[in-house]
Amino acid sequence: MSDEKLYELVCHVSNEIFGKDFQHKAYFNKRLRTTGGRYMLRTHHIEVNPLVFEKYGMDELVGVIKHELCHYHLHIEGKGYQHRDADFRELLKKTNAPRFCSTLMERTGRKITKKYTYKCAKCSLLYNRKIQLNTKKYRCGKCYGALLFVSLENMK
Ligand SMILES: [Zn+2]
Ligand SMILES: [Zn+2]
Repeated sequence: MSDEKLYELVCHVSNEIFGKDFQHKAYFNKRLRTTGGRYMLRTHHIEVNPLVFEKYGMDELVGVIKHELCHYHLHIEGKGYQHRDADFRELLKKTNAPRFCSTLMERTGRKITKKYTYKCAKCSLLYNRKIQLNTKKYRCGKCYGALLFVSLENMK
C-alpha cells in the first residue's frame, strides 16, 4: 500500500466515523517497531507502521487509524487526547477503536511524572523538584542548611 492510499483511507475514516475532515499528513513509517501507529503532537501528522497492513490486513489498519484519529481530533479541539483522559476513552468507545498505540506519543504527551521532596535540616523549608537532587551539592537557598530527602511521589 502506498502513502497516497493510506492518506486517502485516513481521510475517508475521518469523514465516515468522526464526521470531520483530516487536514494534515498521514504516511507509513518503517522505523516504528513495537507500535502500530503514532500521532505527532507538534506536526499533527499520523504515522503508521506498514507491518500492520502487511501482517494483519485492512481491519487492523483501520483500527490503528481510528485510534490515532481519536488522539488527532481531540488534540486539535483542545480536549483530553491522552490515554488516561475521559474524553479519549469515550471517543475510543464511540468509534469502536482499539486501545493500543505508541509508547513514543505517550512519552511526549505526559507532563510531570515524579515529585521529589527535600527538606532543609536547619530551617525545615520544603523543596519540591521534578528531578533528583544531589544533596551533597545542593543546599538550602534560605539558610544554607543541608537538604534531606523526604519523599518521592509519582504524579499523573
Ligand atoms: Zn494512543
Ligand atoms: Zn534552610
